[in-house]
Amino acid sequence: MKIHEYQAKEILRKYGVPTPRGIPCFSVEEAIAAGKTLGGNVAVVKAQIHAGGRGKGGGVKVAKSPAELETYARQIFGMQLVTHQTGSEGQKVRRLLIEEGADIKKELYVGMVVDRGTQRVALMASSEGGMDIEEVAAHTPEKIHTVFIDPMKGLQDSEADDVAAKIGVPANLVPQARTLLQGLYRAFDETDASLAEINPMVITGDGRVVALDAKMNFDSNALYRHPDIVALRDLDEEDPNEIEASKFDLSYISLDGNIGCLVNGAGLAMATMDIVKLYGGNPANFLDVGGGATTEKVTEAFKLMLKNPNLRAILVNIFGGIMKCDVIAAGVVAAAHEVKLAVPLVVRLEGTNVELGKKILADSGLPIISAVNMADAAAKVVAAARG
Ligand code: GDP
Ligand code: MN
Repeated sequence: MKIHEYQAKEILRKYGVPTPRGIPCFSVEEAIAAGKTLGGNVAVVKAQIHAGGRGKGGGVKVAKSPAELETYARQIFGMQLVTHQTGSEGQKVRRLLIEEGADIKKELYVGMVVDRGTQRVALMASSEGGMDIEEVAAHTPEKIHTVFIDPMKGLQDSEADDVAAKIGVPANLVPQARTLLQGLYRAFDETDASLAEINPMVITGDGRVVALDAKMNFDSNALYRHPDIVALRDLDEEDPNEIEASKFDLSYISLDGNIGCLVNGAGLAMATMDIVKLYGGNPANFLDVGGGATTEKVTEAFKLMLKNPNLRAILVNIFGGIMKCDVIAAGVVAAAHEVKLAVPLVVRLEGTNVELGKKILADSGLPIISAVNMADAAAKVVAAARG
């Protein structure tokens, strides 16, 4: 689960991570008032969306007067902000963060993720702050320093100090960087985060180490023990189809291709997307209807896929183990009748009650293209999507 920058900063402040003073706002009027409350002439107007790269997309502006603040707030509030993480349609800005301006001397990067290989939280730090860390990793990987944190001991003073020095924190400010890094780690650990990133962490002109940006993601499987974090969820930032899918207990992820995939089992769903790609196609979604899908669930799954305007063909790939092929077939037929199927449908069924399932499909009168195995199904659906 993702949260907004201002929410991440509120959490981090509780762990002693210094941030600029700021006020979240839900309208332009609130933003103007926030500027007055903060005082001072320089304020930063920051779009709050669940995507990075806001600065480059015009979603972060430094205002040097109250008049400028108003201009930027009007510009940014309500805009469709396009960044490299939003897709071309962008994301509507519904919240702003108004912050006091910072006098930036140096921009650094620090981030934490769970590293599966070492089963530890990895702290990554770099002198190259403010840029995409993916770019740094691709072109100058030697500029990223990594510490795998021992879960029993936490982030040690010596480790924090060493990494701070390596990324160019001046010696007299290393204790401040240590406080920030250790606070970040404790926040990460105690909230069951999956990612915590401060980009940039800045050194200010008056010698302070401050988190100028903050991003936190959380492990969904641990949310049951963090109701306070669940309360921060912003459904406006989530894919409406994915929200709809979660109501029916379907695992659905929107993708940018044109072949809808309806599969039972996450592993088979992944394999199905792989083979569609191998045959030159592009999946429109990941969809796992699960082992115990009912006719109703399959119908909902169909409706979800058909909402996608890019959809050109559907592949149903079912291996009936616990799931019975006749149930899936009945669901496919019911859904096709209910939603007016306008794209070609390729079905590959195998397993429990397969003959009965095939009979239901054949008797339905629907123009279904049946496939005998996965390769056959992939080839047929890719051809169908091409028209
Ligand atoms: P992102 O682009 O979504 O990662 O948003 P950031 O919060 O990282 O802001 C992007 C950039 O805006 C930063 O790297 C800074 O260079 C700049 N910026 C953000 N806040 C301030 C500020 O208070 N003062 C100044 N001068 N620049 C800022
Ligand atoms: Mn940033």
